[in-house]
Amino acid sequence: MSERVTNWAGNIVFGARRVHRPASVDEVRELVVAGGPLRVLGSGHSFNRMADTSGDLVSLAGLPRVVAVAPDRRSVRVDGGIRYGDLAVRLEAEGLALHNMASLPHISVAGAVATATHGSGVRNTNLATAVSGLEFIDGKGDLVTLDRDNADLLGTVVGLGAPGVVTALTLDVVPSFELRQYVYDAVPRSSVDAHLADMLSDGYSVSLFTDWTGLDFNHAWLKRASFMEGPWFGARPADGPRHPVPGMPAGNSTDQSGEPGPWHTRLPHFRMEFTPSSGAELQSEWHVAFGDGLAAIDAVASVRARVAPVLQVCEVRAIAADQLWLSPNYQRDSIALHFTWIADTEAVLPVVAAVEEVLAPLRPRPHWGKIFTTTPASLRAEYPRFADFHDLVRRYDPSGTFRNEWLPGPP
Ligand SMILES: Cc1cc2nc3c(=O)[nH]c(=O)nc-3n(C[C@H](O)[C@H](O)[C@H](O)COP(=O)(O)OP(=O)(O)OC[C@H]3O[C@@H](n4cnc5c(N)ncnc54)[C@H](O)[C@@H]3O)c2cc1C
Repeated sequence: MSERVTNWAGNIVFGARRVHRPASVDEVRELVVAGGPLRVLGSGHSFNRMADTSGDLVSLAGLPRVVAVAPDRRSVRVDGGIRYGDLAVRLEAEGLALHNMASLPHISVAGAVATATHGSGVRNTNLATAVSGLEFIDGKGDLVTLDRDNADLLGTVVGLGAPGVVTALTLDVVPSFELRQYVYDAVPRSSVDAHLADMLSDGYSVSLFTDWTGLDFNHAWLKRASFMEGPWFGARPADGPRHPVPGMPAGNSTDQSGEPGPWHTRLPHFRMEFTPSSGAELQSEWHVAFGDGLAAIDAVASVRARVAPVLQVCEVRAIAADQLWLSPNYQRDSIALHFTWIADTEAVLPVVAAVEEVLAPLRPRPHWGKIFTTTPASLRAEYPRFADFHDLVRRYDPSGTFRNEWLPGPP
């Protein structure tokens, strides 16, 4: 019997006939060997059709949970269905931490790294860079194990679900650390103009938020080790907790009191026990070179009369460069402009195209898991290793078991 499956946001109804929920890696392999088309559905938090298939979906949420810390305490091996929120609690209990987290802990590790999900911080690379090992069932039904000694790892981690079903990942970990979170209101645009790089560098992780109804930014969120008081670049300390999205309950957000707390209770904006963000929304995000951040903000300001009516909130973050072939941060320190839109695809899509048009001179790379209208040819032009990625996918999945309509085609 077919079931109606949607993504988290509800804007995508998957075309899949069935959703399989294997309870072991052997069962995953049997599904692959039985033939495709097949795609893995992580926690379903992407906003486009990248997880879609005309065949069957596979959810790994029912795999036995694995959290195996290496004897040297520098890495942890996890299963392909675990969510960051569950992993974080287990790591903290071991006195360990991940180097960074996204705004929400609800997403699966395998799905998040497949799209190069990131947090913020000028010295923080995206979450996919923590992957030192990958185990996946490829399109031939073989269990492939890659580590950093294998050049394929750099092309496979941000794999968009195309090389195979990731059944386990090994992640770098660091000793647990504490952070304080501070929120500031009314960040003057003049400060952003004069000090954007300094602002984004003034903490372990910094986010600037605006709803584009004006030129000033509504809030700055700082996650940092050291105490701070008084104004910050002309912004005033918030007089109580805030939610990034105007009008949403602040209680859903992580602690902003300035009290130190474990890394996983400060790095995400949203708490695991509540719906993250607004819940009724679409999202887009574009990465530009760090040095082009202000130009990107100016470009969006030039179309803000179109942006503001369909926007809930826009967030500006920094991400350090990496070497992962399909990472939007590939060999480029980046500033990312994220947009939480209203939940109205028809109204939002023309504005997405308008933002893409003004950002185009800055060579933006869209977030793989969010909404964009960039053509496959333009996408390929932004990724020097795109042809290598296609060769890699052809090698691991020669018969196209994991292929879908959405994945940008070969050059
Ligand atoms: C409220 C909200 C806040 C967000 N905040 C951030 C943020 O702060 N930073 C950011 O960068 N992004 C953010 N995102 C986007 C999100 O992190 C990405 O869309 C991410 O891919 C979601 O992970 P998922 O497990 O839901 O993946 P899914 O959407 O389920 O899948 C994504 C892709 O991964 C593949 N995949 C999943 N699991 C596997 C597996 N085991 N093996 C092989 N392929 C697999 C799927 O086939 C698909 O191609 C946010 C999204 C939401 C809804």
